[in-house]
Amino acid sequence: MVVDAATGKTKPEQGGHVSALDTALTQFEAVADFLNLDENVRCILRVPKRELIVHFPVRMDDGSIHMFTGYRVQHSLSRGPAKGGIRYHPDVTLDEVRALAMWMTWKCAVVDIPYGGAKGAVTCDPKALSLKELEGLTRRYASEISIIIGPEEDIPAPDMNTNAQIMAWIMDTYSMHRGYSVPGVVTGKPLSVGGTLGRVEATGRGCMNMAREAVKHLGFSLEGAEVVVQGFGNVGSVAARMLEERGCKVIAVSDAVGGVYNRNGLNTRELIQYKENNPNFWNSKGCDQITNAELLELPCDILVLAAMEGQLTEANAPRIKAKTIIEGANGPTTPEADKILENNGVLVVPDILANAGGVIVSYFEWVQDLQYYFWEEREVEKRLGTIMRRSFQQVLSSSQEKKVSMRMAAYIQGVSRVVDAHLARGIYP
Ligand code: NAD
Repeated sequence: MVVDAATGKTKPEQGGHVSALDTALTQFEAVADFLNLDENVRCILRVPKRELIVHFPVRMDDGSIHMFTGYRVQHSLSRGPAKGGIRYHPDVTLDEVRALAMWMTWKCAVVDIPYGGAKGAVTCDPKALSLKELEGLTRRYASEISIIIGPEEDIPAPDMNTNAQIMAWIMDTYSMHRGYSVPGVVTGKPLSVGGTLGRVEATGRGCMNMAREAVKHLGFSLEGAEVVVQGFGNVGSVAARMLEERGCKVIAVSDAVGGVYNRNGLNTRELIQYKENNPNFWNSKGCDQITNAELLELPCDILVLAAMEGQLTEANAPRIKAKTIIEGANGPTTPEADKILENNGVLVVPDILANAGGVIVSYFEWVQDLQYYFWEEREVEKRLGTIMRRSFQQVLSSSQEKKVSMRMAAYIQGVSRVVDAHLARGIYP
């Protein structure tokens, strides 16, 4: 059964598929029940505050015009401007963006940074576009959503298949509309236009911080711990490298096509370099090939999920052998899988905590942009570590005190802070 956003009532799943929105709403109802939230508050938080759908033309290299569809969803603005990435993906839907926007609201609240949640997307296959077409698409999308974004309203950032260059085009397009430079309109920008040191590594570094706290709690250390990483993009590759640098043995990593495995440990730096010049891992020397399904079920100490939603389900959760799971990706575990992992004693550090490093350093970037005063990298790392450790400890204490999972404890912390803001502000008018 899944939750209907409009009514809050449960309804049957469609074809057994649990979408990201189904997961997000089920998680929200569970925490709302735990907090005994009034229906008058639930009905506000179940749906996004604002949704913009844009259909726009892009001139392709062959002279033809192609129509694209993009979204920007602002789930909540109660605690501050909305914040969330922009995803380019051929299968992305409005419901997926709604789920991702809701998760951003809880994430910003759980680590207590003064933002609401948003997310954006364009349904496209960026790999099929030339650089010129990608720039054209980005600038037109930025122009279309410029009516609801801005440093005080909604601040986008990179997500899957978007990067610092794309953020620079968005910043430039927005600034051209205004007639002056507005660096604070997006984060994850290149350093040359107001980016911050440490942003590229932030989410992976945060995952490493969370893995360190999780194993400490479980009574062992990173030294010699066996690590498996699904997804070897920005988040997964940085997390893998940083964990290896702290003494872990990274035994398997994967991308969308498949993965590589070596029981004696992989050299993640070499793999990162190899991947820069090769589309996938399959041909790496000294490694066995492994499918994503096999990789997830490998015996290991730490499993970092850094790819997509819905990777751990009712079907594979009983076979997961990791001692702790660090959710670098958003929504990688379905609610059914969550229950199984909890019963099996797997410590899951939930996405809204585990991958918050990205939005925390985005917040630092925005603060620096607004002040036109930039910090040294060790200042960024130190402040990031402080917030992540503090948030982990708060969530862990709450989970022990209330005898609930880390996910439920994180949701209790995040949702309660958003509810407090709503109640303090009241209903307008
Ligand atoms: P990315 O595009 O840089 O990398 C994604 C990686 O996942 C790639 O290696 C890709 O090949 C792999 N992948 C895609 N589909 C897969 C599949 N079905 N099975 C296995 N691997 C698959 O993206 P990213 O920025 O690293 O983001 C990864 C996840 O982390 C996403 O869920 C994103 O929302 C989340 N996240 C990213 C950030 C950030 O700062 N980049 C912050 C918070 C959360």
